[in-house]
Amino acid sequence: MKKILTALKVPFIVALFIASSILIAVWGADQDRQTEDRLWNNGVCSCKGHYQLFDIERTRGDEYYYYKCDKCNGIFKTTHYFKYEN
Ligand SMILES: [Zn+2]
Repeated sequence: MKKILTALKVPFIVALFIASSILIAVWGADQDRQTEDRLWNNGVCSCKGHYQLFDIERTRGDEYYYYKCDKCNGIFKTTHYFKYEN
């Protein structure tokens, strides 16, 4: 019995480590998404202008969306695609 427990110990730690890193990644992505949602502010810039999608950049699996404010020309770069909720 002891042998089995010792044999299970390492895979268990590895599994725990993998599980926690997945959790952290998911949590991190969620936090990231919430931050971007807040920054996006439903497409309204801090100057009260509206962001318009003007470019999409794809680099090694990552996608970046560039939005430009129609009033102050401020750039909003995000990894999430935002749609207007009208
Ligand atoms: Zn603006």
